[in-house]
Amino acid sequence: MIDLHLDGLTRRYGSTVALDDLTLDIGGGTITALLGPSGCGKTTALKLIAGLLDPTQGRVRFDSEDVTDVAAERRGAVMVFQDHRLFPYLTAGDNVAFGLRMRGVPRRERRREAQAVLERVGLDGLAERRPAELSGGQRQRVALARALVLRPKVLLLDEPLANLDAHLREGMRELILDIQRERELTTVVVTHDQEEAVVLAEDIALLFDGRLHQHGAPRTFFEHPATERTARFFGATNLVAGRRQGELVETALGPLRVPDGAPSGADVWVTVRPERLTVAGARGDDRQQVRGRVISSAFLGNRTRATVEVAGARLTIDVSDDALADVGPGTVLTLGLPEEALWSVPRDAPDETWGPEELAAVDGDPDPGVHRDHEPEGRP
Ligand code: ADP
Ligand code: MG
Repeated sequence: MIDLHLDGLTRRYGSTVALDDLTLDIGGGTITALLGPSGCGKTTALKLIAGLLDPTQGRVRFDSEDVTDVAAERRGAVMVFQDHRLFPYLTAGDNVAFGLRMRGVPRRERRREAQAVLERVGLDGLAERRPAELSGGQRQRVALARALVLRPKVLLLDEPLANLDAHLREGMRELILDIQRERELTTVVVTHDQEEAVVLAEDIALLFDGRLHQHGAPRTFFEHPATERTARFFGATNLVAGRRQGELVETALGPLRVPDGAPSGADVWVTVRPERLTVAGARGDDRQQVRGRVISSAFLGNRTRATVEVAGARLTIDVSDDALADVGPGTVLTLGLPEEALWSVPRDAPDETWGPEELAAVDGDPDPGVHRDHEPEGRP
């Protein structure tokens, strides 16, 4: 199993900085997602790891070996492109065997190995078809087989699920995970889709504008986002404006005890995932409580979601039990804000480089302390 070390990797195209000083360690045999909106440098990073592109600055190491100047075909890393890049006039079998042919593997052995890998990806019986005679999902599998037949130690996948219909994604995801485990491959998956990153990867590296914003386990991006942009990219819906003063954050909801997240004196958003808010009384003695009025509620099958207006701010709460069964517009609720469920991030000015999904998430009044017509109760 090969550990990957990216050390200050930078790639410029003229005045465009496609990747800016990326330093990242990727554990051997793990699967890491490079995540971020279109144009943030993901494919560039993958090509630099593969050796298909030279960095402007920085080094790539596989374990302790510096491979920055090692040719792509000698690195032991194989990249599967988003658009497959299969040879249209070769059969699936010959597409898969092609790399072995380049390596001088005899014909009989090439066929046997290509056949075995095609079977492994669930395409036995389709070796004689040309790409045009295969579905998009099948072509994606041929591309994966073509990489696997080379027995790489590092597998680099560029948007492997992006061109697949929803019902094909699950199968492809399982296949990638199974093969990755079976072969103990160090795998880097590029995706712009946070859900895909979360279901595929043990670790996520989030890039914006060519720069690494946060690296860690998927859960940390939901619970402890480092920046506002990260919080919004991961779908944070509850953002309450405030100012941190030591351990407390002053907000329209009152002072809240919020662990860590931003320096004292900073303008922050207090964030809390909808499923981490509680209906006070239902789950005992949360010390931080606020009272608010239900604006809307909806039963979503496995949970109920309500939007509650509290002191001019809107909080969304999800519960999976029947604590919200009887609420409707106008119901007054006491919500618990457990300290360990709260987090704060420094407040940014919206940025012209934000993507539509981030801008769409911007709402509410960033000015704390207004519309404060009822006093919250049960404050710390
Ligand atoms: P992603 O894969 O995250 O969508 P890319 O790595 O493809 O992003 O591109 C990152 C940035 O570098 C983009 O601004 C893109 O336009 C630019 N870029 C990528 N390849 C080239 C190239 N060959 N020439 C000029 N600019 C490029
Ligand atoms: Mg790309």
